Amino acid sequence: MTDPRDTLGFVRNRLDRHSSEQPEEAVPAFDAPDARLVLICGDRIVLRGSTALIAPAEAAGLDGGTRIFLGHRDGQPVFAAAAPAEAAERFAEAPVRTLDLRSIATESAVEAEELGLLAVAKSMLDWHARHGFCAKCGTATVAKAGGFRRECPGCDAHHFPRVDPVVIMLVRRGDTCLLGRGPHFKPGMFSCLAGFLEPGETIEDAVRREVFEETRIRVGAVTYRTSQPWPFPSSLMLGCAAEALDAAIVTDPNELEDARWFDRDAVAAMLDGTHPEGIQAPPPMAIAHYLMRAFVAGET
Ligand SMILES: [Zn+2]
Repeated sequence: MTDPRDTLGFVRNRLDRHSSEQPEEAVPAFDAPDARLVLICGDRIVLRGSTALIAPAEAAGLDGGTRIFLGHRDGQPVFAAAAPAEAAERFAEAPVRTLDLRSIATESAVEAEELGLLAVAKSMLDWHARHGFCAKCGTATVAKAGGFRRECPGCDAHHFPRVDPVVIMLVRRGDTCLLGRGPHFKPGMFSCLAGFLEPGETIEDAVRREVFEETRIRVGAVTYRTSQPWPFPSSLMLGCAAEALDAAIVTDPNELEDARWFDRDAVAAMLDGTHPEGIQAPPPMAIAHYLMRAFVAGET
């Protein structure tokens, strides 16, 4: 069986993580000589050659917004910082440039293990950008523990970075599988069905509910396959295989533009870019691609 980590984006990461439990003294100085920085200007990450780990000095003069200590990598302290979108103009001279994280992943612009670290940086900075005020009392909160916690001076509440679980499933019926396309998909692309878990729901129940809501197909057995952080902004994709109990598809037009059963040959052609109708699969870095390839290989 294929190792999902061979192709999936954001799953490899050799960051020795900092955490909310570590004392404030454990946060190294931002200007430590061996420190490295991930700098995100708006939604674009600064790259120098084939790495996004730059010297903190390269951000000198930029407005000192949120700075997060992510942890150590190969012994070096690694920080993440946000800058306004306009700051990207400063980083436009080769070998320095800026690129959004989705493009960095699809173009393999950095090595696979660095991509996982960039997912941490992006999700953490997005969380800080959207959680400046206490959800209990509305007071402005303060970043602590290197940025892995926000504390409220008004009511003493502690707030922690959140992760939003999403189920994504390859639904099988005999030698066919169910794929759909959402209205926002690029033309010609079909993918696995997916949706957010709801409070109090098991992974298996979320799979059954989402598939039924979107296609009126009932699902029996559900098997967990693998997971993938998806930092847009902070999802965790839970990849599953599921057995369909029905054949007739009735799509919910609010969720899906189209959904069909595809046989193995058709899915193989989608993955290889040779489908006669030009139907395409998501790129190899996406978990849907992995689940579809596993189906073709008879591994689901
Ligand atoms: Zn509060």
